[in-house]
Amino acid sequence: MSGSPAERAILRSLDTHIGEACGVFGVYAPGHPVADLTYLGLYALQHRGQESAGIAVSDGETITVVKDMGLVAQVFDERRLAPLQGHLAIGHVRYSTTGCSSWRNAQPLYRSVAEAGFALGHNGNLTNTAALADDLGMLPGMGVVGDAGDSTTDSDLVAELLAREYAEHPRSDGRDLEVALERVLPRLAGAFSFVLMDEAHLIGVRDPHGFRPLVLGRTEGGFVVASETAALDIVGAHHVRDVEPGEMIVIDASGVRSRRFGDPSPRLCLFEFVYFARPDSELYGQSVHAARQRMGEELARQAPVAADMVMPVPESGIPAAQGFARASGIPYGDGLVKNRYVGRTFIQPSQSLRGRGVRLKLNPLVENIRGKRLVVVDDSIVRGTTTRQVVAMLREAGATEVHFRVSSPPYRWPCFYGMDTGRRSELLAADMSVGEIRGFLGVDSLAYLELDRLLAATGAGPGSFCTACLSGDYPVPVPEIDSKHVLEAEPAARA
Ligand code: SF4
Repeated sequence: MSGSPAERAILRSLDTHIGEACGVFGVYAPGHPVADLTYLGLYALQHRGQESAGIAVSDGETITVVKDMGLVAQVFDERRLAPLQGHLAIGHVRYSTTGCSSWRNAQPLYRSVAEAGFALGHNGNLTNTAALADDLGMLPGMGVVGDAGDSTTDSDLVAELLAREYAEHPRSDGRDLEVALERVLPRLAGAFSFVLMDEAHLIGVRDPHGFRPLVLGRTEGGFVVASETAALDIVGAHHVRDVEPGEMIVIDASGVRSRRFGDPSPRLCLFEFVYFARPDSELYGQSVHAARQRMGEELARQAPVAADMVMPVPESGIPAAQGFARASGIPYGDGLVKNRYVGRTFIQPSQSLRGRGVRLKLNPLVENIRGKRLVVVDDSIVRGTTTRQVVAMLREAGATEVHFRVSSPPYRWPCFYGMDTGRRSELLAADMSVGEIRGFLGVDSLAYLELDRLLAATGAGPGSFCTACLSGDYPVPVPEIDSKHVLEAEPAARA
């Protein structure tokens, strides 16, 4: 998220959802404009992170990194892309919470070791950073001293571990990064989808649970790795396959090699299906958009209600509302208009505008709402403050009944695997029953999609997901403190 701290605070106050994670992209394509392709890939992944963007390019001898705070289109223009010539590149878009919004945490990270160097982009969040810091001889909370100065993100710890392996075990075959990864990856716990590069190799890595997506694509003259298939589409690549949980893929002049560093136990983040991933991406071979529509259909079957119109909270609730309307036979209509530019531009509202809250983002279509019994569909309720304002706005606009339907179960537990949910105490459903939430929101009825129905709607195997924020069943042990942040010196750091 870009802009001043005050602007970011305002934009966050308008955010109905969990903060996104990060997006990663990499391309190996000699003879092709790899920096331009990476720019396009990051553009397609912008929804996964809006705070900073960066690209690292190798021409075979030198790695050049350009990164800055802001959206992809703000960080890069023709002038900044033109010098980035080479045959392989990685890119990163980053999301983080207020407090660590700084250039030094932007990625790709770069480390030089002797005459060589490598760059790294990370999507996810490690859960054993304290132990790793201990291994490095650091007290938890102390920074890593690297090329970019003191830094405290889990991604920096990984870069530091790799750099030390690099330095301690120099090789003559050019496989330094690959071999360093083979040593370091088994020591990492939690969520990590990495793109890495040295002067000659592009590497994609996915943790043994595969919390975050990572896909391999084929493009003219080369290969692409990306967080989502939608980023392959934009560069004209076709989806070859997912990078498997526990797999490292190495791409160089000899082609693609695969290495296993951990036993796969797939637990893809279920919220990638519900909200995070682009609707035009595929996960587990399923269309995300179609899955979200099926979630709405399931919701209509589970919690039917007599009403005049089904409407989404735009844009997050649109596919599920379409599914609800289709299954229920109740007409679909628009009841709210979203200002598309909130969160996308450097708005500078004064303090006095803060009170207008949700109206900066959503405005009711009074002629569609007045006198109607509404079914309002959204994909999730996290903190609930915006939902409450939306309901009040619809009533003010003349709705006679408001029935709220949510296409996922109550969000009760914080995420430790790379999503910004805030602390448990900030989650509306953490300590409230559905009946109490109904009262808090001021709706006539409220229903959340049951977990087994949600899992069925994805079209993928039910055992292949992380559901921790909905079930409290954490696939990887998490720190006992009620915080998603393990590196205490900079508690909001994440990749
Ligand atoms: S806890 Fe929730 S948001 Fe986090 S990875 Fe698991 S399903 Fe996704």
